[in-house]
Amino acid sequence: MTTQDTIFGKIIRKEIPADIVYEDDLALAFRDVAPQAPVHILVIPKKPIPKLADASLEDQALMGHLLLTAKKVAEDAGLTNGYRTVINTGSDGGQTVHHLHIHILGGRQMKWPPG
Ligand code: AMP
Repeated sequence: MTTQDTIFGKIIRKEIPADIVYEDDLALAFRDVAPQAPVHILVIPKKPIPKLADASLEDQALMGHLLLTAKKVAEDAGLTNGYRTVINTGSDGGQTVHHLHIHILGGRQMKWPPG
C-alpha cells in the first residue's frame, strides 16, 4: 500500500471532503476530523512521505516549508497566545495515518508531558 492510498492521499486528490484551510503546490492544511483542542489542524506534504523517519536530505526544503506553513496556518487561525505542534512517528509515536503530518493544536492550555 502506498501513502497515496491513505485517507490523506484521498484528501489531496479531493476524492473525499475535508475542511481545507490552506493549500499550495507542496502542502495542504485541513481541520482534524476528531479535534483534540478548539483548533486542531493538520499540515501535510502533497508528496507521499509516510512518516518523519522516511524523510531524506532531498526533502530538506519541503520540511522547512511545512513548518513555515504550520506557522502561517496557526497565525491565520488566530492562535496569538501560542499553540503546540506534534509529529507522531511510527507505532511507538502513536501514528495512525501513514502520511507525514504536523498537528497544530491550540485554543486551550496544553499540558506536559503528553500521554
Ligand atoms: P496520527 O495519530 O498522528 O497519525 O494523526 C492522524 C490524525 O488524522 C488524527 O488526529 C485523526 O483524527 C485525523 N484524521 C483521520 N482521518 C481524517 C480525515 N478524513 N479528515 C481529517 N482528519 C482525519
